[in-house]
Amino acid sequence: MGNETADIVIIGGGIIGMSIAHQIARRSSLDIVVLEKGAGLGEGSTGGSSAITRQRYTQIESVRVARDGNVIWRNWSEYTGLADPVGRLHDIGVLWMMDDDPGAVAADGARLVAEGIDAVVVDTAEMQRMFPGVSACMVPFDLTGETDHVCADGVSFLVERDTGFFDATGALLDVANAAKAGGVDVRMRTEVVDVIVAGGRATGVKLADGSGIDAGLVINAAGPWCNRINVMAGLETPWDLAPTRIQVIYRDLPSVVPRPIPVIADAPGGVYFRPEAGGGQIILGSILEEDEIEDADPDDYNAAADRAFIDLKIHALHHRLPDLPYVGIPGGMASLYTVNRQDVLPIVGPTSIEGFAVVNGFSGHGFKESQTIASMMAQWITRERAVFDTDVPMSFFSIDREPIETEDHNVLA
Ligand SMILES: Cc1cc2nc3c(=O)[nH]c(=O)nc-3n(C[C@H](O)[C@H](O)[C@H](O)COP(=O)(O)OP(=O)(O)OC[C@H]3O[C@@H](n4cnc5c(N)ncnc54)[C@H](O)[C@@H]3O)c2cc1C
Repeated sequence: MGNETADIVIIGGGIIGMSIAHQIARRSSLDIVVLEKGAGLGEGSTGGSSAITRQRYTQIESVRVARDGNVIWRNWSEYTGLADPVGRLHDIGVLWMMDDDPGAVAADGARLVAEGIDAVVVDTAEMQRMFPGVSACMVPFDLTGETDHVCADGVSFLVERDTGFFDATGALLDVANAAKAGGVDVRMRTEVVDVIVAGGRATGVKLADGSGIDAGLVINAAGPWCNRINVMAGLETPWDLAPTRIQVIYRDLPSVVPRPIPVIADAPGGVYFRPEAGGGQIILGSILEEDEIEDADPDDYNAAADRAFIDLKIHALHHRLPDLPYVGIPGGMASLYTVNRQDVLPIVGPTSIEGFAVVNGFSGHGFKESQTIASMMAQWITRERAVFDTDVPMSFFSIDREPIETEDHNVLA
């Protein structure tokens, strides 16, 4: 029996692969198959994502990618065509406590406002009127508590008012349902074991059950497993994409802590955190490069958070939310994202192998960027435009680019 055929095979049903399928289906009748090895959706990076949708970035193109994605998060039902989507944007705001220099904060705010983002610079009194449970201290401190810390308030803060976070798994379910409604064939428990390349051109994939699918275009959207797919295709790339273990902590957020609590990027504590969707819990992660544990094996890594990590980082949360009682044992977990070691930006688009494209290396940015990146891919593949499309050129993320100069390689870069 011969192979099945499709116009496009997408390897990986995470938020990137599934969103590309949806974005192509909403503007074409191409025959698309998404192949996902997991038993359920979201067993890769997407399932562990904090799904923060902030728009402040170092590179202006990344600001625009996040901004254009935020328009989609804000109009999720219209974009997915689902009357009652599972996921929604929690636009609780993002409070940036990154810099104690008022000039730098003002310049940062002006940069975002110029891009059409609803950002505002506030003084300490206004910040605490908006978020009464949040300490304004901007003095860096030693989380071990071995040296004394005396709090002193900062002067000005940046707030993004039109975003916050999304439900990561809700978004994935919604975009999968939207893709299926658009005719996409989504197959679970279907592992790709080889990418077939003949004469410099990808012609399809081989599956673990021995069957094959011939396709005009094969897309590697395999998240932390992306290097394996590139090896299967024989793609030689200079990019160093590292599956990286990332830990997050959960702590109850009792009602004694004054609300509202926004998403907070906390430079003095070296952490970010946000309330969970129900509002009764906090999720906290590190913003420090030193806490990214690179070269993890995506099939064999410790998915529990380290006790030492929890015991240390939790102090940053209590410093920022002084009314949070020290009670109970915080929980935690670890999952993976894929860091592009050269410039922390993804590689997106066609490769030197005709008919083989990559969408890999999103670091901690891939959730918020997913819809915009999918828009770029769909525009390239179909040559068609659709509502909510981005104008940011895909070439910015091309596999052929020179690494972009950046001082920071941490998750907030
Ligand atoms: C702890 C944590 C916090 C994060 N926080 C944020 C955040 O606040 N904001 C943000 O924007 N981003 C965040 N991210 C990053 C974001 O979640 C990822 O960049 C994004 O989910 C990547 O999606 P993906 O589809 O590329 O990968 P994945 O979700 O990993 O999907 C890839 C899929 O490919 C499948 N696959 C792999 N190999 C094969 C194969 N051979 N055959 C078939 N299927 C295969 C896997 O099973 C997997 O489901 C965070 C990530 C983590 C881990």
